Amino acid sequence: MAIEKLLIANRGEIALRIHRACHEMGIKTVAVHSTADADAMHVRLADEAICIGPPAAKDSYLNIAAIISAAEISGADAIHPGYGFLSENAKFAEIVEAHGLAFVGPKPEHIRTMGDKIEAKRTAGALGLPLVPGSDGAVSDVEEAKIIAEAAGYPVIIKAASGGGGRGMKVCTSPDQLETLMQQAGSEAKAAFGDATVYIEKYLGNPRHIEIQVFGDGNGNAIHLGERDCSLQRRHQKVLEEAPSPVLSQAERERIGGICASAMADMGYRGAGTIEFLWENGEFYFIEMNTRLQVEHPVTEMITGLDLVREQIRVAEGKPLSVSQEDIRFTGHAIECRINAEDPKTFAPSPGTVTSYHVPGGMHVRVDSGLYQGYKVPPYYDSMIGKLIVYGRTREGAIMRLRRALEEYVIEGMKTTIPLHQALLHDPEFLDGAYTIKWLEEWLAKQDGQ
Ligand code: ADP
Repeated sequence: MAIEKLLIANRGEIALRIHRACHEMGIKTVAVHSTADADAMHVRLADEAICIGPPAAKDSYLNIAAIISAAEISGADAIHPGYGFLSENAKFAEIVEAHGLAFVGPKPEHIRTMGDKIEAKRTAGALGLPLVPGSDGAVSDVEEAKIIAEAAGYPVIIKAASGGGGRGMKVCTSPDQLETLMQQAGSEAKAAFGDATVYIEKYLGNPRHIEIQVFGDGNGNAIHLGERDCSLQRRHQKVLEEAPSPVLSQAERERIGGICASAMADMGYRGAGTIEFLWENGEFYFIEMNTRLQVEHPVTEMITGLDLVREQIRVAEGKPLSVSQEDIRFTGHAIECRINAEDPKTFAPSPGTVTSYHVPGGMHVRVDSGLYQGYKVPPYYDSMIGKLIVYGRTREGAIMRLRRALEEYVIEGMKTTIPLHQALLHDPEFLDGAYTIKWLEEWLAKQDGQ
């Protein structure tokens, strides 16, 4: 089928990103929005816009009935869920398809499998992805847990099967803590996710977060688009991402990428996906798969020249991937800064009205953001207000360009994390690429102490 009109079930920069890909493909767009987003840029630019509810996400961007009605009223033939909100909700994908609409995303059963961490790990293992040593599935018995932890080696991490956003995890350093921590993890998981199931993994002391972008056509063909290094995190939230990773060689990239692509081919995976690994001492350990487009996808676009949203839409139309593995060339280096409306020191949210706005430009500079002068950032949603992405022939070149672009970027009327990025881009350890997932929090603690 050819998609002619696509409903964007999201907001903010990603809604705009999807709208742009659609218009470049000659596809009409339908924006849906909460009452708080009536003045949002994606609403202004879309061909049609439908209000689907009040500000609270559960009544608007998570309101499946309202979104499906909007698709029917507007005559859309496809829905793109973006990231967050309903993007990894298998039931939503099923409902979309049951209404005869194309879901721009994976098959519902694959969303479901990868959404359950234990099932995801089992599937990943069966598909040949390298796993973190640990339990084979759920663990409830303390004696059994002790045997597993002993075999994996302390410290271990107790994780919630339905966890997300880094919540419901406990690090355990000795057998006598195991019982208490398992109970704590279980009850926290029950409270947060309604499911007390936990499992155990070896705790990796100082890994990097390296993820592989994959793409499948749903018919057994799949490719990988290399990695992104997202080790710079605060409270498990990514702050800055880069591709390629400063620590991977081309041979390592091809090896892990090849494993991921053939796993996706075996699965019959459809659309974009990201396989997340922890990486330590040259080894990859699968932690989870995200069955959607990621916030940081532009860095991959920059080094491959491929438009990932366009590719997602093509696959949703039933077309093959536009490229084969052999066609993909990785050139240069790309870095993305997530710009949040937050105090750069305390990270307290700082929504407000944009009183002055100037976007950086020039060669190889990309800004994905729905901001404009006079726009009022609503307080109800995620604090990310934009992404600045740059490309350079080398990592050094990209860093110099990013510093220059950050100097030009003016957002007045609220606090933003621009000063944080500026400081990071001058840090000698960052410049060396010598950072792990713990590095940023330690660095922030040091800044505080000064
Ligand atoms: P979530 O779905 O909650 O984000 P993940 O499994 O992706 O959970 O893990 C989130 C973060 O927790 C990882 O990025 C990493 O920082 C840390 N983590 C998870 N598993 C381990 C492990 N086995 N060893 C060390 N750190 C881990």
